[in-house]
Amino acid sequence: MLNFTYYNPTRIVFGAGSIARLDVLVPADARILILYGGGSAERNGTLAEVEAALGARTVQRFGGIEPNPSYETLMKAVELVRREKLDFLLAVGGGSVIDGSKFVAAAVDYDGEPWHILETYGKHITRAVALGCVLTLPATGSEANCAGVVTRKSIKAKLGFGSSHVYPRFAVLDPEKTYSLPPRQIANGVVDAFVHVMEQYVTYPVHAAVQDRYAESLLQVLIEVGPQALATPQDYEVRANLMWAATQALHGVVGAGVPQDWATHKIGHELTALHGLDHAQTLAIVLPNLLQLRRDVKHDKLLQYASRVWKLDSGTAEARIDAAIARTRAFFESLGVRTRLSDYGIGADAIDEVVTQLAAHGMTAIGEDKGMDLEFSRRILHACL
Ligand code: NAP
Ligand code: FE
Repeated sequence: MLNFTYYNPTRIVFGAGSIARLDVLVPADARILILYGGGSAERNGTLAEVEAALGARTVQRFGGIEPNPSYETLMKAVELVRREKLDFLLAVGGGSVIDGSKFVAAAVDYDGEPWHILETYGKHITRAVALGCVLTLPATGSEANCAGVVTRKSIKAKLGFGSSHVYPRFAVLDPEKTYSLPPRQIANGVVDAFVHVMEQYVTYPVHAAVQDRYAESLLQVLIEVGPQALATPQDYEVRANLMWAATQALHGVVGAGVPQDWATHKIGHELTALHGLDHAQTLAIVLPNLLQLRRDVKHDKLLQYASRVWKLDSGTAEARIDAAIARTRAFFESLGVRTRLSDYGIGADAIDEVVTQLAAHGMTAIGEDKGMDLEFSRRILHACL
């Protein structure tokens, strides 16, 4: 096992009716900004429930944070927080709203131009406005981690940052708040959570028995509850298990002490920035091909994945690996998430620009062993067609 530090201060408040707990979770004298997305929280009553729980506290609203939150929009929230001297951010939404709120939290008192936060992956963040969240979409794990991803539309850049200063103080997870999600977002959430686990599990082995079995159990739960969440949208237990699995896929424990890949996410971010694909769509396209082309580095773990997750125990090692990758792709497709660039109208002529953007963002040696150079990423993208 590799050396690690594990730290996660986010208090998780889980279950039906938990929004009412905001009354004790948020300081009584807080001056609050509620941040939300394009209107789903307003339409389905979540925002009203949040405001009722906050009682007499000073509350302002900032709506309109888009999927793949944009720097341009978020800077308007930064101005509002500064102008109104607000001191508590409450994100109500999915990964985009929570990521965006983390950026706002870090940008308000940042020394210098806030875009620098993204250019330096958050390394120079020294403080942030207090932040809590109410999750409405199980997917990213953003509700209980210290990472965020922000897009700057004008330069087609989608960049991630991380800082222990932006961990949410609390995350309210009410599975009933996910009932209104359209099937596409449920499917995206299952794929994103699945790929988060894969990025931290299918790497080279380091004898991390706890992390391996934990990762395998999360993958198995997602394989089980993903289709159920689509088939029976109002099944509380299914939504509860999906929500808790998605949080744990990226709140630190699975990835502690093991090598981490993240190349699928890095290539995926460029595809979203350039072509507007949903985050999970990009992952469903890239992951199967990355596993295929990186099967030398990942060989032993791919065999373990084949056996323990998909129960593929007969045939040659190479055949079992092929079958496990095929099952992974079929799982994504079964949820309705297409797995080829051509499914989204993207052809070979688009690849040069993706590689150029990877280079511009310093993604020249990626993967758990930094073994993927730009030419390797190009090969993966060709395989994705
Ligand atoms: P999202 O972009 O937050 O939301 C997608 C859509 O779902 C929005 O149109 C939103 O509508 C709608 N929605 C959310 N909750 C709903 C509900 N309860 N009922 C109906 N509609 C609802 O999706 P996401 O997958 O959670 O987040 C994706 C972003 O997170 C990407 O930018 C990705 O790169 C990032 N990400 C972050 C991490 C991390 O660790 N921080 C990890 C992976 C990905 P409204 O806008 O109207 O609310
Ligand atoms: Fe993700």
